[in-house]
Amino acid sequence: MQFIDLNAQYRALQAEIDANIRSVLSSAQFIGGPFVRELEERLAAYVGRKHCISCANGTDALQVACMAAGVGPGDAVFCTDVTMVASVEPAKMLGASIVFCDIDPHTYNLSPDSLERQILAVQSEGKLHPKVVIAVDIFGNPCDYHAISHICETYDLLLIEDAAQSFGASYHGKRCGSFGTIATTSFFPAKPLGCYGDGGALFVDDDELEKLLRSLCVHGKGPGGKYDNVRVGLNSRLDAIQAAVLLPKLKALDEYELAARQTAARRYNDAFAGRLVTPFVAERCVSAYAQYVLLAKDAGQRDRIIASLEEKNIPNMVYYPTPQHALPVFQNEPRYGETFLNADDYCARTFSLPMHPYLETQEQQQVIDAVLEAAI
Ligand SMILES: *Cc1c(COP(=O)(O)O)cnc(C)c1O
Repeated sequence: MQFIDLNAQYRALQAEIDANIRSVLSSAQFIGGPFVRELEERLAAYVGRKHCISCANGTDALQVACMAAGVGPGDAVFCTDVTMVASVEPAKMLGASIVFCDIDPHTYNLSPDSLERQILAVQSEGKLHPKVVIAVDIFGNPCDYHAISHICETYDLLLIEDAAQSFGASYHGKRCGSFGTIATTSFFPAKPLGCYGDGGALFVDDDELEKLLRSLCVHGKGPGGKYDNVRVGLNSRLDAIQAAVLLPKLKALDEYELAARQTAARRYNDAFAGRLVTPFVAERCVSAYAQYVLLAKDAGQRDRIIASLEEKNIPNMVYYPTPQHALPVFQNEPRYGETFLNADDYCARTFSLPMHPYLETQEQQQVIDAVLEAAI
């Protein structure tokens, strides 16, 4: 059994993927070209944004977004405490201070209340300039964009949506990747839409911003092209082969993969209801279920369940064992006395089960039986 079965997906899409890769090989156009252009158009249309700018990975996408936002020393960048380090690493690298916020205890996403407290704390201290909020749709579950957008408007902060885990998800009828001034995603193989290597993208509606992001991705190119360098940028682009792989995968995600994830999640939810804390997806939201996350009653029960899964060779993961505020790299970030009780509690009790669109009923039943047997 696989935690995420990329082989099963390849078997389903092999003919199209192979034909597309062969087409790139015979064209010998490995950077840019028709596959990259078509992919950007399809991604923008799917997400519901005017522009998609592909790049080398999700971390670069966030770095380019932060560069475009002018993030630098003296700025406060607000982010959820439960995420992967890549959400804030670029802002930190650009010299900003990271102000972590606690999570909502139900969705495990950025808590709007904690966000507002932290913004007010930064304001009243008066040392840092509140600049950007990075909202992460954790495990594919969309953030509370109504509340978060309102806070960003009230305090004049730029919102960046980190949709690395939520491609395909939606909030009140709008797809993830369409929130904030800039949204970013990742095509790392294990994400809901993954390629066969590294890849990423940015989504925006503003034409000027699109030009700036494209410039930042290509060595700060100016109107005169790539040897007319007008600012410091990166070399960050999506290979043609990755675009060729992503096109059939995007179609499959839209046609049946997202639905298959919902079916698998429902089966888990039904089996674990009343025994373990199952994922909460708010009304009018659809999760991409990048991960299927459960909470045990305490760390001891979590560890017993994991040990039992290990014994039966059932793949499992802990996303994430440590909240960001407790990581060694962030020990000098400002705290303002905020507690991270929900994040601490979440990290102590969480574990994740195999979840992908090709999970068979019988395999899933094995996982369910093993978890229930150990969840005493
Ligand atoms: C995977 C991930 C990223 C980074 O994406 P890469 O393509 O691996 O650089 C950023 N944020 C979150 C929440 C992620 O899960």
